[in-house]
Amino acid sequence: MFIPENHSIEPSEVRIWLSSPTQTAESRQYMLEAFDTNWLSTVGKNINCCEEEIEAKTGIKYAVALSAGTAALHLAMKIAGEQIYGGAEIGKGALAGHRVFCSDMTFDATVNPVVYEGGVPVFIDTEYETWNMDPVALEKAFELYPEVKVIVIAHLYGTPGKLDEIRAIADRHSAFIVEDAAESFGATYKGKQTGRFGNVGCISFNGNKIVTGSSGGMLLTDDIEVANKVRKWSTQSRENAPWYQHKELGYNYRMSNVIAGIVRGQIPHLEEHISQKEAIYERYKEGFKGLPISMNPYDSENSVPNFWLSCLLIDSDAMCKQVRGEQEALYVAEHGKSCPTEILETIEKYNAEGRPIWKPMHMQPMYRMNGFVTRECDGKAFDIGMDIFHRGLCLPSDNKMSIEQQDMVIEIVRGCFN
Ligand SMILES: *Cc1c(COP(=O)(O)O)cnc(C)c1O
Repeated sequence: MFIPENHSIEPSEVRIWLSSPTQTAESRQYMLEAFDTNWLSTVGKNINCCEEEIEAKTGIKYAVALSAGTAALHLAMKIAGEQIYGGAEIGKGALAGHRVFCSDMTFDATVNPVVYEGGVPVFIDTEYETWNMDPVALEKAFELYPEVKVIVIAHLYGTPGKLDEIRAIADRHSAFIVEDAAESFGATYKGKQTGRFGNVGCISFNGNKIVTGSSGGMLLTDDIEVANKVRKWSTQSRENAPWYQHKELGYNYRMSNVIAGIVRGQIPHLEEHISQKEAIYERYKEGFKGLPISMNPYDSENSVPNFWLSCLLIDSDAMCKQVRGEQEALYVAEHGKSCPTEILETIEKYNAEGRPIWKPMHMQPMYRMNGFVTRECDGKAFDIGMDIFHRGLCLPSDNKMSIEQQDMVIEIVRGCFN
């Protein structure tokens, strides 16, 4: 248990958030404009402007505004299924019965859309350099399942994965990549925005993302036919006829013009948010000097993360005993050592919000029977995702957190290792 040494730390009066929305005067204005002009619909100026601004910011040719990042991922899976397997019969998914290689350590919204379309996720383990899909494990997966033609990759916590390696493997096997850039909007790899590396890309404006509209997302593509198809599917697949005419299954997935107003007013602040988040990451790094921990890593030569969440990883030999069941965790405090459970419980007492690392998909009850491929270490499978989940945690990373509040978090973490 953390006991402050020569002085006492008072819990923060205001909650220190993991990542909370940042509103702007422009958002309020655009939202009110939608309201006052009665464009309370899934058509309107905010939606069009929002799409154009995302196109300008990312360099993608077409951005299609949707109700959520998950909706974008779902329609991305349909596009993948159509291009690779020729599309779905009604009542059967576009990926029906086909295995799909998926990032393992990610939010479940990366993976669920595969199942919406009848696909069978096979999870690819994580690497230690960027905490994303391990190209070594991916290559091994193609040896085990050479028939696979679709890959879904996420960039965890805003850190770009090993895109060159993954693209090279995908091309060798003529595989289609769906890129889940929900957490990494604004992050770049070799100077190019994430969301542009997949055959289709997806971003999210969910309430805790770096740009938020309370909800919302976009599908990114350079192919006008894909953009038109997604736009059509997202508005109930209406054919061009005087009445409601339908040839295909439709969805109500278009973004609302009110939400688009909130998003639109935040897009110009993306860079500001990124630099605030980067400063938070650097301050943690500096503040943790001398402790047996490291920050979530990135490839500084090739990539610039958006630093959405700052995370820490405790050295293996500085871990106190920690046991996690399906719903709860226990640990045994030990001098000079700590664990994520102790740190999270302690910062919570001081009114600061942290979170465990996203629990890998292969460890989730619903996906426990699915395939999971790891690299080999000394001839043995080694589960890197489980190891990072065990030793890592997400720190309060709110861009509105003050230096004093962050210093408090740093001091509490330091205290856990006393
Ligand atoms: C947030 C998130 C999503 C889903 O986005 P929503 O807009 O919440 O539907 C998908 N993938 C990842 C990795 C996410 O973090």
